[in-house]
Amino acid sequence: MTKDYTFIDFDGVILDSEKRMLERKYNLGLCDHENESEFDTYFEYTNLHPEEWKYIIKEAKSINNSVEIIKELEILKKKIAILTKIHTLQEMRVKTEVLRENMKILCPIIFVPPGIKKHQIIIPNNQLLIDDSKNNIKWWIENGGRGLIFDSTIKSDTKEKVRSLEFLIKR
Ligand SMILES: [Mg+2]
Repeated sequence: MTKDYTFIDFDGVILDSEKRMLERKYNLGLCDHENESEFDTYFEYTNLHPEEWKYIIKEAKSINNSVEIIKELEILKKKIAILTKIHTLQEMRVKTEVLRENMKILCPIIFVPPGIKKHQIIIPNNQLLIDDSKNNIKWWIENGGRGLIFDSTIKSDTKEKVRSLEFLIKR
């Protein structure tokens, strides 16, 4: 039995919340998703309109059965934790409510604040991260971790990419 955890990203891996956030941002006329300052403007807007996070997260859908698979992994007593970036405290609150109250997921939730990278909060130490961000995976591996890019659109898993969390059940 290993002491290692498998860390699972939230946005774009468990729920399709990333896509919904970009949609909301775009609809406000903040259309350049390459421009960092547009994100700052949008997150300031969400502080005045906390219902944005409810729309983005509470109504988001499970990607390729991720929610159901995580609940199964908990029944199997696999060592998993959710490692997720947050931009505002309201976002942190809504993510917690959705995971604990709506989904009844009980594993640790580790939040990463703005300006900090995931490998700074969790020292990778050969542990596995599954994340839809290529950069997060690159930095995680560079700092001693094992990483897999989550891409729900691919047909089957490869050495670097997985399309669902299902492989974790069989490990
Ligand atoms: Mg993500």
